[in-house]
Amino acid sequence: MDISRTHLIEDLNSSMEGQDVVFGGWIVDLRKLGKMAFLTIRDVTGMCQVIVKGDSMNLLEGLNRQSVVRITGKVQASKAKDFDFEIAASEIQILAKAEYPLPIDPIGRLESDIDNRLNSRALDMRNQKTASIFKLRHHVLSSIRETLSKEKFIEITTPKIIGSASEGGANLFGLDYFGNQAYLAQSPQLYKEQMTIGLERVFEISGFYRAEKSHTGRHLSEFTSVDIEAAFMDYTDVMNVLEKLIVDVFRKTSEKCKIEQEHIGNQIKVPDSPFERITYSQALDELKNDDIKLEFGDDLMDSHLRILGDNHPEFYFLTDWPMKLKPFYIHEKDDDPTLSRSFDLQHGYLELSSGGRRLHDPEQLKARLKEQELDPANFSDHLESFGWGMPPHSGWGLGLDRLMTVLIGIDNVREVVLYPRDPDRLKP
Ligand code: ATP
Ligand code: MN
Repeated sequence: MDISRTHLIEDLNSSMEGQDVVFGGWIVDLRKLGKMAFLTIRDVTGMCQVIVKGDSMNLLEGLNRQSVVRITGKVQASKAKDFDFEIAASEIQILAKAEYPLPIDPIGRLESDIDNRLNSRALDMRNQKTASIFKLRHHVLSSIRETLSKEKFIEITTPKIIGSASEGGANLFGLDYFGNQAYLAQSPQLYKEQMTIGLERVFEISGFYRAEKSHTGRHLSEFTSVDIEAAFMDYTDVMNVLEKLIVDVFRKTSEKCKIEQEHIGNQIKVPDSPFERITYSQALDELKNDDIKLEFGDDLMDSHLRILGDNHPEFYFLTDWPMKLKPFYIHEKDDDPTLSRSFDLQHGYLELSSGGRRLHDPEQLKARLKEQELDPANFSDHLESFGWGMPPHSGWGLGLDRLMTVLIGIDNVREVVLYPRDPDRLKP
């Protein structure tokens, strides 16, 4: 059976009048009007109208919505208001039948809730709005790769199955590895730091795993992280890289993805830069004005971030956190060792990224591990590499799924992840 096509739907146009074409796709709509019928056909690139009449009416036998067809026909001018051309079909071949009824309405005319859509996720991709989210995600990824490659970062892939509970071990999924205890990586932190000793600037875009029993719109057990690490850069340098990456993502997708923005119903607005930079101490002062009394060293809870988010609804950096709130590998400030060379990138209340300058002195790192009650023996491979000429370095991790929600203007990461994993969802 011939399944080839001569054209994608986006390649068909009114200047092709009289031309014979073969194309394929799904039947979105089928309307019989006496001795004529109109079909709307979609492929991943768009939709077009097919007209059937006269002797050809027998071609309609056995056709139903959402079945896959291959159509042979001639391009002609159309009187329809939504289409300026149509295809007069001479042959309609059914390649696969869709069952009836389908679990969700794939056109989205009948709104299905997110749970039902996730249960039939592949079918949900036939909804233009959902498909547009994942087309945008594709463009976001390619923009990120382009920006980082230009800045001389090299893309790496680190292991996701790891043998020791790095970074303290909270929130790790454990698994049996041929009789030994192993874990799923929660970040590429230690590996990406090690890579700076030879590759200097590295990045990774990958899934990571956190056993968080959270039921929020911003936490999943499996999420995609964009990570960088760079030798000879301080924390302000990698903040600049992050800012450029974000602005590039918004600018490129706003220019390239016009149709997707229309389907989603959201106009992408390129953010103003430079982003505002607020220190942790300034944030405490700001909260004091709202009668929130926090001591130096207290963590900012969700309720505090909501207030800061009301004051700063766009992108901003929260910098110079107390050392005690940051992980063991973070570097202190020269003028005040209780403060760290660290930052979070926020969008309103939402944390998008954490990063900072790292310790590169092995003795300091060992001391800090003990201070945080971690056993240096569990980090022996990592510490060993610090004796091989570890350059001063900085980096960050950015939650790609959270960034997508900001780009699209929604508040649930489940919308932008194909098959989200959370405490209640392991299938499909
Ligand atoms: P939060 O406090 O919001 O749980 P975190 O500080 O624990 O985040 P980091 O360890 O700093 O997270 O990870 C870097 C980034 O990765 C976060 O800023 C966030 O964008 C993303 N991220 C972390 N955990 C998750 C998760 N469970 N689901 C989705 N994204 C996540
Ligand atoms: Mn963080």
